[in-house]
Amino acid sequence: MLLKESSILIIGAGTWGCGITLELARNGYTNVKVLDAEDVPSSIAAGNDFNKIMDEGPPSTGDTDSVYAWNRLHNICTDSWLNDTLYKPFYHRNGYVMAASSDTAYASLQEEIAGREEDYVPVNTAEEFRKTMPEGVLTGDFVGWKGYQKPSKAGWVLAKGAILAAQQESERLGAKFVTGNEGKVVELLFSNVSNAAGQPHLEGVKTADGTIHTADITILSSGANADLMFDLKSQLRPTAWTLAHIKMTAEEAALYKDLPVLFNIEKGFFMEPSAETHELKICDEHPGYINPVYSANHTVIGSRPFARQQIPIESEARVRALLNETMPHLANRPFSFARICWDADTPDRMPLFDWYGPQNSTGNRSNFLLAIGGSGHSFKIMPAIGQLTREYLEGSVDNRTRNAFKWRPETAVNRNWWDTQGRFGADNKVMDFADVAGWTTIGE
Ligand SMILES: Cc1cc2nc3c(=O)[nH]c(=O)nc-3n(C[C@H](O)[C@H](O)[C@H](O)COP(=O)(O)OP(=O)(O)OC[C@H]3O[C@@H](n4cnc5c(N)ncnc54)[C@H](O)[C@@H]3O)c2cc1C
Repeated sequence: MLLKESSILIIGAGTWGCGITLELARNGYTNVKVLDAEDVPSSIAAGNDFNKIMDEGPPSTGDTDSVYAWNRLHNICTDSWLNDTLYKPFYHRNGYVMAASSDTAYASLQEEIAGREEDYVPVNTAEEFRKTMPEGVLTGDFVGWKGYQKPSKAGWVLAKGAILAAQQESERLGAKFVTGNEGKVVELLFSNVSNAAGQPHLEGVKTADGTIHTADITILSSGANADLMFDLKSQLRPTAWTLAHIKMTAEEAALYKDLPVLFNIEKGFFMEPSAETHELKICDEHPGYINPVYSANHTVIGSRPFARQQIPIESEARVRALLNETMPHLANRPFSFARICWDADTPDRMPLFDWYGPQNSTGNRSNFLLAIGGSGHSFKIMPAIGQLTREYLEGSVDNRTRNAFKWRPETAVNRNWWDTQGRFGADNKVMDFADVAGWTTIGE
């Protein structure tokens, strides 16, 4: 039985790990320890970023368990970003402009907003795009662009600020963070024998310094790297995206303050520059890169994440193409920073949130909870992931949510590792890091 004093071990103090820890610490769990391979915010965390797009309310209509559960997370996190004193300061509700260049991508945009049209204003000419921001920001020709502006109920969140605030508040409430080699998990130690109900039992986890950490409950929230820890039956595909920063002057940063997000779902996106460093983050949009792992008979059986604070030169070209179309006055400015950024795609892009191993009808379950599968769109749900975890621990999660996020290896049998999963950009193909011709050399 779970008690407030039960020991809870969390692997990964990134986006979800910090959201989970905060929720548990706030709700009186007094024995929570979090392990991370790096200091918070980790340089390899997908959430360690200036900004992430936030869209309020249900993203789609429908009555499947997935739609229900995803909408539910959206509603919970919307409430937190708007009202929770810890999360609220990080939400910039400046709206966004979503656009596409091809008819196919535009049709997908229309599908996405179906049923919520009243929140959106069509934007179809270069003049209309330029007018979505103060004069002098958007100077491009926007050839072939069409889309919608959502003036409110959307915007961006200061991602690394929220992670750090959650970590600091959790620590203040008594949670313990162990980082670096002492927090880097190198092995999960499963018992050779299952428990009486036939479920696997995690005896402990080993960190790089040789320490073995044990706990009543262990939660896995190590993002794209979870796949390196044990056999997830192809349910996670570590996929990388690319981001670059350019430095702006203080005057430029003042002009760019409080901008809506601009996102062409085939070309890329940017938000206002960092208030601290005046760097503008730009992402080129594409279905992602993988680093394929091959079987003996040369078929892809996975993707292995690696860290690099550079991006492929083809990605730099895409970033500069986006700038040329939107803000040509910045198109040749040198990058001050760039990196590849890994997240973990499930086949249906829904979280993988479940007790590992079979559960029986009396609710018996293992002691190991999976909280993974951000699938490229799950920073915003950070506060909701905390609540969801507590529901799993306390046995109050509803059946539809459990069904939507359950362990589901049957969905990953013969997985197509090159599946674009509904994404656009860069020839609409998932790319292979092995084919990259060269990398940027920022700071080298
Ligand atoms: C370029 C990019 C842009 C994105 N834009 C958006 C957006 O606009 N809006 C949005 O909602 N989402 C966005 N996302 C998705 C979002 O960032 C992720 O879904 C979310 O951050 C995933 O959180 P996580 O906790 O699963 O992983 P992470 O935040 O990556 O955290 C994983 C943690 O595990 C730690 N770890 C790894 N290995 C170990 C180990 N062996 N031992 C201990 N700790 C370990 C890491 O150091 C890290 O701290 C974007 C993602 C990318 C890559």
